[in-house]
Amino acid sequence: ARASLLAEFTGPGATADGRAIPLLANIGGPKDLEAAVANGAEGVGLYRTEFLFLDRATPPSGAEQEEAYRKVLEAFPAGRVVVRTLDAGADKPLAFLPAPGEEPNPALGERGLRMSLRHPDVLSAQLAALARAAAGLTVKLQVMAPMVTDAGEAAWFARQCRDAGVEHPGVMVEVPAAALRARDLAREVEFFSIGTNDLTQYACAADRQLGGLARLQDPWQPAVLDLVAPAAGAGVPCGVCGEAAGDPALACVLVGLGVTSLSMSAPSLPLVRAALARHTLEQCRQAAEAARGSRTAEQAREEARAHLPGLP
Ligand code: PEP
Ligand code: MG
Repeated sequence: ARASLLAEFTGPGATADGRAIPLLANIGGPKDLEAAVANGAEGVGLYRTEFLFLDRATPPSGAEQEEAYRKVLEAFPAGRVVVRTLDAGADKPLAFLPAPGEEPNPALGERGLRMSLRHPDVLSAQLAALARAAAGLTVKLQVMAPMVTDAGEAAWFARQCRDAGVEHPGVMVEVPAAALRARDLAREVEFFSIGTNDLTQYACAADRQLGGLARLQDPWQPAVLDLVAPAAGAGVPCGVCGEAAGDPALACVLVGLGVTSLSMSAPSLPLVRAALARHTLEQCRQAAEAARGSRTAEQAREEARAHLPGLP
């Protein structure tokens, strides 16, 4: 079935009535490029750079970073690559960047951009390596910060990017405060990418590392969809790069909410491409409205599916 889907739907992502929705890959490094290209990714929507920094006592040198970034950037000469700056802390602890003190709740502690604010030298070295890696290439490099909470943080990050010669700064929307005040953040940066894994964790107060809370770690929760809507409607291009983007039905719902690109692990791309190709933007909007009108995640799933008859 997968093979025939691959054959039936190829090319760039789009709804049945022709609204382009770029389909991008989530990668952890150059080793993931082959699968991304094989599954028709139009670029990279989330490059999780922390894998370069894991399991070592000192940060990678500028030259080592530049080499890894360049391999990724060279893979999509006509596309875009969205690089996420270091997301250290909580579920991604790094040996050379320990939390500043005991953290009883690491998910609510110093992680993501908060760590960059404490160690701006690590961020500026990373941004400089990215700018060098992109020099002379045709790919569009976009760089985004994780765990951004308010417009002040977004403005600080955008300034760091521009000072380093990185032209297209963005932020991840994965903290409910950022989603609720998306219009303020949109004045500071060029784009958003919604991280539904963390956005769900924080919206539902359910630690993503606790398997027993899987029922609440569900991006179909209507409250999560209510947080996606203001981010998608804030006036800047808004992608989704959490696991939710790889669920064909939810991908349609996200497009119906106004999301403009979807990034996922490479094996999910063919099914999502097929789901979009079989539904119009209006069907996606109706599915989104039905999901948001629901009272539980289970009901949202069912109601949305009723509006998406062509799901693969
Ligand atoms: C997310 O939070 O949804 C996300 C894409 O980032 P990560 O899973 O790496 O935290
Ligand atoms: Mg996240």
